[in-house]
Amino acid sequence: MNIFYYDIAVGLPLRKCFTYKSKVIIKKGTRVIVPFGKKSIVGIVIKKISNPDSLKGLKEIISIADDYPCFDKSSFETILWAAEYYHHPIGEVFFSFVPTLLRKNNNKTISALKKFSEYQLNERDKKYKLTKEQKATLSKLNKVKQFSPSLIYGVTGSGKTEIYLQLAEKFIQKNKSILILVPEINLIPQVLKRFKDRFSGEIGVYHSRQTPNQRLKVWLRSKFGEIKIVVGTRSSVLMPLKNLAAIIVDEEHDHSYKQADGFKFSGKDLAIKRAQLENIPVFLGSATPSLQTLKLVKDQKYKKFDLLTRVDGKKPPKLIPLDISNSPLLGGIAIQTMSIIEMAINKGEQILIFINRRGFAPLYECENCGWVAKCSSCDSNLVFHKSKNRLICHKCESVYAINSSCPDCHSTEINTFGTGTEKVEQVLKSTFKKVPIIRMDYDSTRLKGSIEEIYEKVNKSKEAILVGTQMLSKGHDFPKVTLCVILNADGGLLSPEINAVEKIAQQLIQVSGRAGRNNNLAKVVIQTRYPYDENLKQIKTGNYQLVADQCLKTNKAKGMPPYSTITILRATSPNPLSCIKFLEKVSSLLYNKKNISIIGPLPSIPLKIKGNLRNHLIIKSDTKSYLNRVLKFLTNEIETWPETKKVKWTYDIDPHDMS
Ligand code: ADP
Ligand code: ZN
Ligand code: ZN
Repeated sequence: MNIFYYDIAVGLPLRKCFTYKSKVIIKKGTRVIVPFGKKSIVGIVIKKISNPDSLKGLKEIISIADDYPCFDKSSFETILWAAEYYHHPIGEVFFSFVPTLLRKNNNKTISALKKFSEYQLNERDKKYKLTKEQKATLSKLNKVKQFSPSLIYGVTGSGKTEIYLQLAEKFIQKNKSILILVPEINLIPQVLKRFKDRFSGEIGVYHSRQTPNQRLKVWLRSKFGEIKIVVGTRSSVLMPLKNLAAIIVDEEHDHSYKQADGFKFSGKDLAIKRAQLENIPVFLGSATPSLQTLKLVKDQKYKKFDLLTRVDGKKPPKLIPLDISNSPLLGGIAIQTMSIIEMAINKGEQILIFINRRGFAPLYECENCGWVAKCSSCDSNLVFHKSKNRLICHKCESVYAINSSCPDCHSTEINTFGTGTEKVEQVLKSTFKKVPIIRMDYDSTRLKGSIEEIYEKVNKSKEAILVGTQMLSKGHDFPKVTLCVILNADGGLLSPEINAVEKIAQQLIQVSGRAGRNNNLAKVVIQTRYPYDENLKQIKTGNYQLVADQCLKTNKAKGMPPYSTITILRATSPNPLSCIKFLEKVSSLLYNKKNISIIGPLPSIPLKIKGNLRNHLIIKSDTKSYLNRVLKFLTNEIETWPETKKVKWTYDIDPHDMS
């Protein structure tokens, strides 16, 4: 009898596969049940092994879980690439893209639900006559048939979504399918609505706030060709759509495409890799493209298509820096700003107020002795949330009761300082008693359907004020807004972070994109103590390309990304010395390597989260492929060190911030 040997990946944090034997041939990417320790767990077949190093103790695969492989060829290859590129344990990478219900040894299997959706254009949906720019762009994009990343650089309101819809239409007509990625769950309803209005037939949705059952259904229906359009967040990047024709990555610049914890992958980069392996087009849309993408356009690796005018022909809003150095602030709002808001309200207009902090106030402090409420397990101040009457740690989400007296001096004079969304909301509510004030932040949008409710409330109202965090600046369409106010841009303008200028420019220009979609007179007021800041002067022109070109020049001169490549190696441990010792050992190992520069060990910010101290090394090199090889060498070394056992260590490849 023939015996075959297979390498199997299991969903554990291990950078290796395990070899098992089998009496039958099994396809790559298939789920199997294998004995592991005393348990039987799910594994994924990675490759056939002709001659295992040793046959001793090899166990046999218990059973094949499904009639079909879990991954098709290109998704499978994309995952292998990702495991190598991010140096992340292979099993964890594979299992990140398996629906939760298929990760466990249970009675769920991969089988068709046989509920096919038909797609036709809805007659009642009004299809616009395209603008000249839209027409030209669409006709060029329609000619892209193979892998070739296309950047659709379209100012807000230039009709990018309409282009996506008409691209999708062409693919659907040919019985193919299409995947649309958005950076955040909150952006799904709006894109979903446009697709639902346009097409009869079901539009699949996939994101992490759905139930495991909902996700499994969409995944299975995609796999068996029952649905052809899926809108989702980064976790849907490998949605097993049959006959996939193209991937659209909307708001490609958005940092939320990067997963922050665990397997820190970029959904955008994986989308591009997948498109390359499937040899299909990938369309990246943004009004404020990332420097990385713009550089690749310059290098002629990506093509750029411009939509520089709004579909309504109206000019973009004016960005107006407002000097608040000598103004008292009420809930973060200067007197001058308040009167501008009042004028807009009196004209029956809608206003959007942007502040990058949720909760009521970021400091809860004793006036007598200066004691400040801090999280007991993180190195961070507690934020006062008035709506919940609690103090909350924004790093670990621990909730604390309010102290009625100071734990240090027993004084009862405890006060809040600083401003968050709740405080702005309160101040506005007491100033404009009859106007709906709608808050949009992490806290107010957590419940299912809350985003839809907010849209409805805003659309129904005449005058209204929306107060929100950066969530508000992203891709949302509020047609009646004529005035945007940015309360705290200075933090971003003065930040020492890499690419801080890129980030604040994107934020300010994205916020300004929310205003004046229907109004010529729209404006964006930026409260600042530095009205003459050089960067602000450029951003104020609203010409993102100009700012981006400048940033690219600066980064080139400094050898910073995208003209170099960076990885952060972070170590955490309850014991600070363990982290430092481990990182110093890494540093001395890499110190003499050519074309590698190291900064650190540095304390991470915040230094402590959930009781663990955090330190990191910044590792920089000129090219990705070289750094990748060095990290591979490093990883192999690290795994043999006794010091490694004392810390938890992770790589952040292509980090968005360096703290
Ligand atoms: P973007 O995604 O670039 O911000 P959208 O596609 O959302 O822009 O378009 C902005 C608004 O203009 C939407 O309400 C959309 O329905 C409308 N629109 C799009 N294309 C046209 C067009 N050619 N003529 C008129 N209105 C259009
Ligand atoms: Zn005190
Ligand atoms: Zn905490």
